[in-house]
Amino acid sequence: MKGPFNKDLSSRSVRVRILSTMLAFMAGGLLIAGFVSYYVQFTVLDDRVNAELLQEVDEFQRIAELRQSDVGGNESTEDLMRAAIQSAVPGEHESFLAFLDDRPQLKPQEQAFELDNPDTVEQILSTHTPGSTIFTHLEINGEAIPAAVASVELYSDDTPGIFVAANRIQNQRDQIWISAVTYTVVSLATLLASALVGLVVTGKLMRPIGDLRNATREITIDDLERRVPDPGTRDDVAALAQNFNRMLERIHEGYAHQRQFMSDVSHELRTPLTIIRGTLETTDLSDPADVSEGHEIALDELDRMNNLVTDLSTLAKTGRPDFVKFAPVDMAEFARNAMSRIEHLGPRRWLLDFGADVMARADEDRLTQAVVQLAANAVRYSEPHTTIELKVQHMSLSGRSMIMVGVRDEGIGIAKADQARIFERFARVSDSGGESGSGLGLAIVEAIAQAHGGSVSLTSRPGHGSTFTIIFPQDNTPVPDPEER
Ligand code: ADP
Repeated sequence: MKGPFNKDLSSRSVRVRILSTMLAFMAGGLLIAGFVSYYVQFTVLDDRVNAELLQEVDEFQRIAELRQSDVGGNESTEDLMRAAIQSAVPGEHESFLAFLDDRPQLKPQEQAFELDNPDTVEQILSTHTPGSTIFTHLEINGEAIPAAVASVELYSDDTPGIFVAANRIQNQRDQIWISAVTYTVVSLATLLASALVGLVVTGKLMRPIGDLRNATREITIDDLERRVPDPGTRDDVAALAQNFNRMLERIHEGYAHQRQFMSDVSHELRTPLTIIRGTLETTDLSDPADVSEGHEIALDELDRMNNLVTDLSTLAKTGRPDFVKFAPVDMAEFARNAMSRIEHLGPRRWLLDFGADVMARADEDRLTQAVVQLAANAVRYSEPHTTIELKVQHMSLSGRSMIMVGVRDEGIGIAKADQARIFERFARVSDSGGESGSGLGLAIVEAIAQAHGGSVSLTSRPGHGSTFTIIFPQDNTPVPDPEER
């Protein structure tokens, strides 16, 4: 048998399918989570930087208003700018610059980056619009930096001023990008680890299925004793292996049964053939008496063969849905008809014990066949003029209406040890005396009882007699067609 990592295409493809589906879902989940998370972070960053710039301009405006009221409206642009720059505390990524008369004059002592290089100054001056605050991006060292350029004009001083606040967003963007790259690397590593672990775990899980697959391919009708290994776990796969083994057991039993049956059939057919052949070989054709005797023996044996073949064909039908044809049966009429059929079977004291004046759902022909079989046995295994009684009764068993059909004799009886065995095909009791039959009669009776949803039971005492009783539900529901199950 091959191992779990063999070239077992179907189990491998199931494994690959399970794994790839799982990994695809994981990858999709990580991708969506990452995308949403970083999209939100970048958007929030943009909004925050704009809000901070706006806040710096507001702060500048507040200082200007406070000072105007303090100095009674005689504020100079330079003083206001100086006060604003001194009180301003630039954030980690912020810089300020104050212009007087279009020249950069004042800036905080410490700030994130410089705004007073000529190129930036030129950009600020070209952006500046007197009387308004402009939000723009300044290009510093190839980096776009959001900035607010606020025009400052006082009634008390005609020196024009410009207040610039800038926030270096790229730094913060880079940090988010680093975090995104880290997230991607960790996600890929997680996916890889999941794939490896998944490969090992599914390999272990699929191994019994691979074994099963190989077994189903390799087991032939001559190899039914083989079993697949039980993985010993308590999961579906183990249950599958156990059920498969149980199925093999049942098939094995059924097949052994069939083989035994076939060998019994050939054996049973060979006996009359041997007798006929032996008789014909030893018949003296010149002696009319010998020919006549041989002729009689051959006919008897042919009759036996005929009976055997008829019984075999009845038994072969037992599994078929049309073995019994259910119809309403008047049990009183059935008892009368059955009695009139069996009382000619032999010189016995025939009795009828009837207590079932009801209708039942049954197959009257099959029931009569069973009664005739039981009565023929009763005659065969009892002395002339003893009693044989046909019982047809109606009774309630566990709240269900049942019909009982039995045949009681006062014959030789059956030893306890043989009582279960005699229902098997070709089973006979060796010392039962009398002329032996096919050994199929009781098997047919039992099949008829079972097809009626019932059973056949036996009570017997050797030397005193036997009673065979078929019992079945009165409102029999038809046995479902096995094809439809
Ligand atoms: P057979 O054709 O040999 O009678 P059956 O299946 O009808 O086959 O019966 C099987 C065996 O059961 C018989 O060989 C006989 O030994 C025993 N048996 C059946 N019916 C009776 C009975 N009424 N009394 C005693 N033995 C019986």
